[in-house]
Amino acid sequence: MNVSHSGIGMTSQRTRMRMIERLRTQGIADEVVLSAMGAIPRHIFVEEALASRAYEDVALPINYGQTISSPWIVARMSELLRVNKNLEKVLEIGTGCGYQTAVLAKIAQKVYSIERIGPLLTRTRIRLQELQIRNIYLKHADGLLGLAEAGPFDGIIMTAVTTHVPVSLLEQIIVGGRMIFPKGTQKQNLCVIERNSQGYNETVLEEVNFVPLLGGVVKK
Ligand code: SAH
Repeated sequence: MNVSHSGIGMTSQRTRMRMIERLRTQGIADEVVLSAMGAIPRHIFVEEALASRAYEDVALPINYGQTISSPWIVARMSELLRVNKNLEKVLEIGTGCGYQTAVLAKIAQKVYSIERIGPLLTRTRIRLQELQIRNIYLKHADGLLGLAEAGPFDGIIMTAVTTHVPVSLLEQIIVGGRMIFPKGTQKQNLCVIERNSQGYNETVLEEVNFVPLLGGVVKK
């Protein structure tokens, strides 16, 4: 890794460890998630001008009107996805800058991630290659279709908000697996859908704030 990856000052390992301590005091208890986030240089995922803010507990702009989720949200969703179990295959919908993807790559054997904005995905692909994260497969497509050919997944994470998740997507989760996503319109909440042998069980959690899930793909 080069110097910019290791970071200095507000992007240093020490700043990153302070973020981890903050997450701990905010209630994140899964050490696997905390150690994954402690190992990934978050400042690499935002524009250089914003790098000094990368470890604050805020969402930041990442171009094309999208945002990188705050450290708290990434930790919370990862913890909810893992529920202290080893994850083999996971699907992420809404790759964005790839930070959540990189965290997932440390807590799951294999990560599939779908993004609808082509140019955003191209940059993310380069960034994840530079970080030498190899257990990731990225796809430019409409994520709501899922990726049936690679499934079924232990878990699905969606990082854009919608009111409704199609059953065809939920069917790509294994029995005993789960999907974590923001649900709503004006008011949004984190939502967990668990698949069991009888069907699906939904739990609504705390209020959150995500960009909307959109249909179709953006090529340029
Ligand atoms: N986890 C990302 C979140 C980015 S914001 C990060 O921290 O960077 C949500 C992302 O979902 C955006 O990049 C947006 O383009 C993408 N998105 C929205 N609707 C989508 C869809 N139908 N399929 C795939 N990606 C979608």
